[in-house]
Amino acid sequence: KAKMAKGLPKKAPIDGVKNVIVVASGKGGVGKSTTAVNLALALAVNDKAKSVGILDSDVYGPSIPRMMNLKGPVYVNEQGLLQPLVNFGIKCMSMGFMTDEKSPIVWRGLMVMSAIQRMLKQVEWAPLDYLIVDMPPGTGDAQLTLAQTIPIDGAVIVSTPQDIALLDARKGAEMFRKVDVPVLGLVQNMSVYECPKCGHREHIFGQDGASKLGEEMSLDILADIPLHLSIRETSDSGQPIVMSDPQSPQVCGTLLFCLNA
Ligand code: ADP
Repeated sequence: KAKMAKGLPKKAPIDGVKNVIVVASGKGGVGKSTTAVNLALALAVNDKAKSVGILDSDVYGPSIPRMMNLKGPVYVNEQGLLQPLVNFGIKCMSMGFMTDEKSPIVWRGLMVMSAIQRMLKQVEWAPLDYLIVDMPPGTGDAQLTLAQTIPIDGAVIVSTPQDIALLDARKGAEMFRKVDVPVLGLVQNMSVYECPKCGHREHIFGQDGASKLGEEMSLDILADIPLHLSIRETSDSGQPIVMSDPQSPQVCGTLLFCLNA
């Protein structure tokens, strides 16, 4: 720990931002961005007085533009700060607003780190009660840059119940603990599929994997979200499920955990 902190500037909070919560996963495709977006919306829906933002720090594979139905360009204000784009009352910033959806970003780690620093510190975020950061998967440069640039109030780790995903989720949780970021708990996603025709329930990616990891690492399970067509459809169409169907059972888990947050 001491070695990592050596020579680095002290962490400084983002002006006007009260709480920063990161949503992370060990693997890609487990529902991290879906969770981040619905968590942000649920926080805002639950308390209209609260202002919420989403920072998409997944520079190589930004999902927020599509999920929040937003497109660039991004403008710079008089103070030289990037102006976030807003939908559903949520301020959003993503590299995807500044690049073409179809062209890959071919960058080295240093460029990624400086882009993330810019999106943290040079965006007109203030005032915000919560900034939800959608992290890239894994435990690399981007994750460390974030953890070492700003104080993070908590990390939420998303995983499917599959062993391979849980192994990586454990690494993620351990990385945050190493850099003194409190891990708020685990979100188990895609745990069960219920056939809409016959009601048969199938645990496609396994069952209870997250609970076991939770027990081993003394982490709470914050939500258990089923695999459901409406979650996929609403994510892809930029109308996240918390907005389109706040009463749906798929949302309950997510909402419950937001209310306890
Ligand atoms: P990640 O951020 O971990 O890469 P995403 O949130 O982008 O994962 O999810 C990957 C894909 O899976 C998306 O198309 C999303 O709509 C879909 N998805 C995520 N969670 C669910 C779920 N519980 N049920 C159905 N589809 C889901």
